Amino acid sequence: MWREKTLELIKRPGGSGRVLITGCAGFIGSWLAEAYSGAGWEVYCVDNFSTGRMENISHLPVRLLRGNVEEVELPRFDLAFHGAALPAPDFYVKRPVEAMLPDSLGLLRVLRRAAESGGRVVFLSSSEVYGDPEVVPTPESYWGRVNPVGVRSPYDESKRFGEALCMAFRREYGVDVRVARIFNTYGPRLDPDSSYARVVTKFLVQALRGEPITVHGDGLQTRSFAYVSDVVNGLITIAHCERCAGEVYNVGSDEEVTILELAKLVKEVAGSASPIVHTPPRPDDPRRRRPDLSKLRALGWEPVVKLKEGLSLTLLWLRSLF
Ligand code: UDP
Repeated sequence: MWREKTLELIKRPGGSGRVLITGCAGFIGSWLAEAYSGAGWEVYCVDNFSTGRMENISHLPVRLLRGNVEEVELPRFDLAFHGAALPAPDFYVKRPVEAMLPDSLGLLRVLRRAAESGGRVVFLSSSEVYGDPEVVPTPESYWGRVNPVGVRSPYDESKRFGEALCMAFRREYGVDVRVARIFNTYGPRLDPDSSYARVVTKFLVQALRGEPITVHGDGLQTRSFAYVSDVVNGLITIAHCERCAGEVYNVGSDEEVTILELAKLVKEVAGSASPIVHTPPRPDDPRRRRPDLSKLRALGWEPVVKLKEGLSLTLLWLRSLF
């Protein structure tokens, strides 16, 4: 799963690096933890298990700090990935106040620790900072179009605040920060049990169970889905680049599909007879989402897993659970 080139980046002589990963028991966090612990790093994991799962990290040699990022005692680190967040729209629409804390109070703690004792910080931001963009494919230079008081704003605006906070710490205290704007990501460990499942997992589970596949609205809204190993490789590339301090990178896939096309592809990959049904549209649902990835490609990174292949890999994992 890990390309040799990326693993070379994180191997340090004697395995002496220490990495702090917040949101470590979650989806992307657990894959980062697996990559770094496999390369001999000392991994400190922060998670409050609001949506993270112990099964995601129980096989890994990590030190677990259980609790909210804004409350636990943070160790000194060489590198930190701040990934603690509640990114599922169904979640942050229902629990908006809780959704605003990790990227405000939580990130503040991580940045303060870096300002006091050094260490590089990679902030796992989101394509949501672009809101419903008028420029697609969207480059990092686009400022976004977010409804600041809409139902998605707790997540969108806390990510925007988090990015501003990173840049403030860089300007005022010289902290080495990098911002990764992650687009829709899927793959094994994206929680299938929760009522807050993201669309790929949700459709695959519906297909496996022979239940109707629920497309919100007309299904002509688009997303570009990236397989988790491509995203984690991108994050590692950003983290270990020597000229990337203070920079912002889109990370994801530029293979854009409509949600209706996704539903059909899921049916095909799962060999499912599930009907496709249309349910009411989500408020403020972005119409198109596709990143311009040229900035990250210029660092030598490239997404390699095509959607159909990634869906089959995710399906294999889901079948092993049911
Ligand atoms: N979606 C859907 N049916 C579902 C869940 C999601 O049609 O059961 C659509 C949703 O309206 C959105 C897209 O799939 O257009 C992606 O939704 P998700 O919750 O995965 O994340 P988002 O990209 O909106 O943050």
